[in-house]
Amino acid sequence: MANQIQMIDLKGQYLKIKDEVDAGIQAVIDDTAFINGPAVKQFSEHLSRYMDGRYVTTCANGTDALQIALMALGLRPGDEVIVPAFTYVASAEVIALLGLTPVMVDVDYGTFNVTVENVKKGLSSKTKAIIPVHLFGQSCDMEPILEFAKEHGLYIIEDNAQAMGAEYSFSDGRKAKTGAMGTIGCTSFFPTKNLGCYGDGGAIFTEDEELAERIHMVANHGQRVKYHHDVIGCNSRLDSIQAAILDVKLKHLDEYCAARHKAAAYYTERFKAFDPEGKYFITPEEMPESTHVYHQYTLKIKDGKRDGLKAHLAQSGIPSMIYYPLPLQEQTAFKHITRAAEALENSRACAYSVLSLPIHTEMTREIQDRVIAAVESFFA
Ligand SMILES: *Cc1c(COP(=O)(O)O)cnc(C)c1O
Repeated sequence: MANQIQMIDLKGQYLKIKDEVDAGIQAVIDDTAFINGPAVKQFSEHLSRYMDGRYVTTCANGTDALQIALMALGLRPGDEVIVPAFTYVASAEVIALLGLTPVMVDVDYGTFNVTVENVKKGLSSKTKAIIPVHLFGQSCDMEPILEFAKEHGLYIIEDNAQAMGAEYSFSDGRKAKTGAMGTIGCTSFFPTKNLGCYGDGGAIFTEDEELAERIHMVANHGQRVKYHHDVIGCNSRLDSIQAAILDVKLKHLDEYCAARHKAAAYYTERFKAFDPEGKYFITPEEMPESTHVYHQYTLKIKDGKRDGLKAHLAQSGIPSMIYYPLPLQEQTAFKHITRAAEALENSRACAYSVLSLPIHTEMTREIQDRVIAAVESFFA
């Protein structure tokens, strides 16, 4: 159905850049350099420029990016890595997969992100790294987290899968892209992410040349010289067709982020007018230190009415999603391998109240008005 509302409109977005994307794909096919071709090199250079000049290693997906980051840092079984309890599973999964210990900390109820206070509670003599996740498109408050990490000699691996394009402001006025602040930054090019390809992809960022070489090596079977393997690595590549698509989309990323922000601002304006006291729900909180690129527009629904609202929206033909229905500490897979540093009450409260509404680069007022009317009719 043509006017069916979708969580994200990838087709509408594609149609606007179709000629350029199609030409890029065709060029790769004509060239037959499907793996590590010139398209990958070109995209990596453009991405490096966008990411404040950081070295870029492209890889197969965002989960691999996180795993390769941990491998490149040489972390060993028994080492602890601090991770938020309210996040997509990948951030914690890779820690456990490598035999490291995920230590869960709580998130701030307002921003869904970890704060330095949360992170401090996870610290032990075994802590080696922190994975701050810039959830839903807004940066964690990184300055105090970076200071804390420096003080204790910890690595920071930013999970930037949801916040490509967001910018953080330091207290001295310096600005940095999310993913370009930690020891390593990781992202995903899954189709629905703010910078998404037409399949799977990911990338890893660092400012340290030596570490960049190591990341490259780990992602490429642990070899610097072909068939000479210095460390145990893995095989994780971005293919040239995806790189060609991403190279086109990267040029539009800021405009895409602005479109998402504009749509979010309209939702918030209307929802605040409808529910000024926050009796029914809480709209997303924006921090002054970060731009918000609204990978998701996520309400917290009060009084246990989230599932009811979701069903009501579905009946009105409005999709909505629960990102994420369970905090990590309640996931079967993590119960026995994880240490919780604190009570994790906010993570639980978020998981049981969040509802994400349709948001994307092709939103119109008409679509938003239909979503808003459906939300309001549930409470009215
Ligand atoms: C999407 C996502 C990932 C993983 O990316 P994939 O490309 O799907 O492997 C990791 N962390 C977060 C926060 C994500 O949203």
